Amino acid sequence: MSSFEKSKQSIADASKYLPGGANSNFRLGMMPTPLVFERGEGPYLYDVDGNQLIDYYAGMGPMILGHNPEPVLSAVKRQLDSGILFAGQTEIEQEAAQLVCEMVPCAERVRFNCAGSEAVQAVWRLARAATGRSVIVKFEGHYHGWFDNVLWSVAPPADQYGSIDAPVPVPASEGQDLVAGQHTEVLPWNNLDLLTKRLERGDVAAVIMEPIMCNTSTILPAEGYMEGVRKACTDTGTVLIFDEVITGFRIGPGGAQEYLGVTPDLATFGKAIANGFSVSCLAGKADLMDKLAGPVMHGGTYNAMPASMAAVIATLTELRKEETFEFIGTQGNRLMEGIRKALEDAGVPARVGGFPSIFHVGFGVESPITDYRSSLQADRARYVKFAEALLHRGVRALERGAWFVSAAHTDDVVDATIEAVAEVAKEI
Ligand code: PMP
Repeated sequence: MSSFEKSKQSIADASKYLPGGANSNFRLGMMPTPLVFERGEGPYLYDVDGNQLIDYYAGMGPMILGHNPEPVLSAVKRQLDSGILFAGQTEIEQEAAQLVCEMVPCAERVRFNCAGSEAVQAVWRLARAATGRSVIVKFEGHYHGWFDNVLWSVAPPADQYGSIDAPVPVPASEGQDLVAGQHTEVLPWNNLDLLTKRLERGDVAAVIMEPIMCNTSTILPAEGYMEGVRKACTDTGTVLIFDEVITGFRIGPGGAQEYLGVTPDLATFGKAIANGFSVSCLAGKADLMDKLAGPVMHGGTYNAMPASMAAVIATLTELRKEETFEFIGTQGNRLMEGIRKALEDAGVPARVGGFPSIFHVGFGVESPITDYRSSLQADRARYVKFAEALLHRGVRALERGAWFVSAAHTDDVVDATIEAVAEVAKEI
C-alpha cells in the first residue's frame, strides 16, 4: 500500500509560498492529497514518497506518448542548443504549422499559442470580427478555459442551472467579471432543435463545443447532431468552432473532426499536440484565419517558442505513424474491457465508455448519458473513493472518471492496472 505522507508535508510547506501549495486549482482536489512528483518515465510517475505510480492523468491529457519519450526529448534538446527565444520567426514553426495543416481537416492556416485558454480567446475574437456579431453559444458541461467570458456553466449545480430549454448561465468562480459573460449564451448539448431555433435569430457570431464531450464524461454527439449543427451554422452565417484541446491528436491524428467527418470553420488544439510542452494552436479556414494578418489582433511573447515547436514536430510525427494509434487502440480497448469485467465481476454497476485513448468510467449509470445533466446520474462520491483506493495500489486515475491512455501503456502495465482495479472493485 502506498503512503503519501511526504507529499502531504510538502504541500503544507509549499502553501507558505503557493496558494494551496499548487499552481492550478485543478491540482488541488486530489485525494488523499495533491501529490508531489520527482520524475516521470514511460507510463510511470515517481513521487517524493518513493511510490511508482502507473499514470492515467497523463498531465491532464498531453502525454500521449508517455513520460519523457525519446523522440520528443532529443528533438527539444537539439533545438535548445540553437537558442531559446528570438522574437522572430523560425523555419521550424513553419514546419510545425504545415504538419498541423496536413493532418487536420479544417486547418488551412494555424497560429500557435501556449495554452488552450488563450487559443479559445483568439477564435472567439476572429468569429466576432468575421460576422460583426457578438453572441457566442456554448454548451453546458463544456470547458473552454478559465477566462471570464468562457467560464460559464462548466459544472453548474442542479439547483442553479434552470430549465433544460433555457439554461441559466452559471459563473464558476468568485471574482468573475459578469459583464464579460453578457454575450455568452448556454444551451444543452446534443439538442439540435434548440440550437437551430436560437441560430435562426441571426445574431450569433459562433457556436463553440467540445466535439466529443471529454470534460464531462466522454459523450459522443447523437446521430445526425453534428451534421445538423454544421448545416444550421452554414445556413445562418454562424462560425462553427470545435474546441479540440482534448480530442485533437488524441481521438486520432486528425482530431474529432476527422473521426466525425464534420469540418468546423475554426478549431483549437493543445495538450497532446506537443506531449507536455506548453503549446496550443488555433486553426481554420484561410479566409477567417488570414484576418490575423490584418485587422484582428493576436499576440503572445512565447508563441511558437522554437523548443516547443520541436516538440510539436516530434510528437505529431509519431502520432502520424499508423502503428502509434494502432497500439494505443489495442491497449486502451484491452484496458476498458478489463475494467468493465473487473467491475462486473465485483457487482459494481458501471458504464465504461469512450475511446481507447480517452474513456470514462461512471458508477451507477443506468440511462444513456447524452449531455451534462444526464451525466450527473453517475455516483461521483463512490468513484472518488475508488480512485483513491487505486492510488494506494499504485494506479493514478482522475477522480472525475476520465482515463488517458498513452503509447507507453504496455501489456504488463495494462495487466497490472486491471489487477489493481479488480482488487479495489471487490473492496468497494
Ligand atoms: N478547452 C478544453 C476542451 C480543455 O479541456 C481545456 C483544458 N482542460 C482548455 C480548453 C484550456 O486549456 P489550458 O488549460 O491549456 O488553458
